[in-house]
Amino acid sequence: MKNFEFHNPTKIVFGADSVAKLAKLVPVDARVLILYGGASAEKTGTLAEVRAALAGAGRHVQEFGGIEPNPSYETLMRAIEQVRRDKLDFLLAVGGGSVIDGTKFVAAAALYDGEAWEIAEQGGANVHQALPFAAVLTLPATGSEMNSGGVVTKKATQAKLSFRNPLLYPRFSILDPAKTFTLPAKQVANGLVDAFVHTTEQYLTYPVNARVQDRFAEGLLQTLVEIAPQAVASPDDYETRANLMWTATLALNGLIGAGVPQDWATHMIGHELTALYDIDHARTLALVLPALLDVQREQKRGKLLQYGQRVWDISSGTDDERIDAAIAQTRAFFEGLGIPTRLSAYELGQDAVEAVLKQLEAHGMTALGEHRDIDLARSRRILEAAL
Ligand code: NAP
Ligand code: FE
Repeated sequence: MKNFEFHNPTKIVFGADSVAKLAKLVPVDARVLILYGGASAEKTGTLAEVRAALAGAGRHVQEFGGIEPNPSYETLMRAIEQVRRDKLDFLLAVGGGSVIDGTKFVAAAALYDGEAWEIAEQGGANVHQALPFAAVLTLPATGSEMNSGGVVTKKATQAKLSFRNPLLYPRFSILDPAKTFTLPAKQVANGLVDAFVHTTEQYLTYPVNARVQDRFAEGLLQTLVEIAPQAVASPDDYETRANLMWTATLALNGLIGAGVPQDWATHMIGHELTALYDIDHARTLALVLPALLDVQREQKRGKLLQYGQRVWDISSGTDDERIDAAIAQTRAFFEGLGIPTRLSAYELGQDAVEAVLKQLEAHGMTALGEHRDIDLARSRRILEAAL
């Protein structure tokens, strides 16, 4: 096992009717900004519940709506202005990964001395202070509710960059599974795939004899596969949604990634596909992962065999046949959720491969993966294998 430090300070408040607990969780003397996305928080009534919980006498509460999926720097700059102008000092995200990530950016940028985009350019290393913030999660997928990372997009240059800093853990996150009942089936499927790929990014690497991390990861993957049909088909099945919500959180809160090598190439290549072609985040991962596993099969051989056996029950055939079967099962899982695994499904071809490679180069993504051996030539092979 590799050396590691693990500290996750986010308090999780999980369960039905937990939004009302905001009244106690948000300090009464805070000057609060509630941040949310498009119409969903208002339509579903979640925003009304949040407002009611924070309606106590003497509280100062403002709102900022309109954070789009794949939150843009341009939109977030307006929230930063509001925070600075009105001296707001506590941020509350109400939404999915986009709103929470956007809130993290605002929390850091509001106190940053310089051009805020530098935070994204430097991956968060230049964040030295941040406003306290918390989240009410409405979409299980990203794990942003219990981690210190975020992803922002500068529309002007089609750059989607991630940042991370220990100051960017939410103080607390409210996870009420019933808040997911209103999700369109497509977003539930996206969430299942995002959580699945967060797990594989930290598990399908090279073995370091991290036995419990492997078992945790396999448990998360098996749970996602097991609950997927019900999670999509029965929107108001509380227990299934509860399992989905907690699994997605655990997939990226640092626990399964402690002491193990991490890949993240699928995410980095996927970000370019979202920035260029506006494909949903999880959908880009489904395009890249099966192709990447195929191209990296030598480096990942031991773990791919273990994954095939423990997650998909594949135990016969030669090693290469078993790896082929494990990759085929992964592809079938995504396709079964209605999520394509080929670029051709989006009518993208060789031009898109070239465009993505150009952006990867521009963003310095030229040594990806747990071995840093995915250079542009290998990214090309991966993208071509996804055509
Ligand atoms: P999202 O972009 O936050 O939301 C997707 C859509 O779902 C939005 O249109 C939103 O509508 C709607 N929605 C959210 N909750 C809803 C509800 N309860 N009922 C009905 N509709 C609802 O999706 P996401 O997958 O959670 O986040 C994706 C972003 O997170 C990407 O930018 C991705 O790169 C990033 N990400 C971050 C991390 C991390 O660790 N921080 C990890 C992976 C990905 P409204 O806009 O109308 O609210
Ligand atoms: Fe993700």
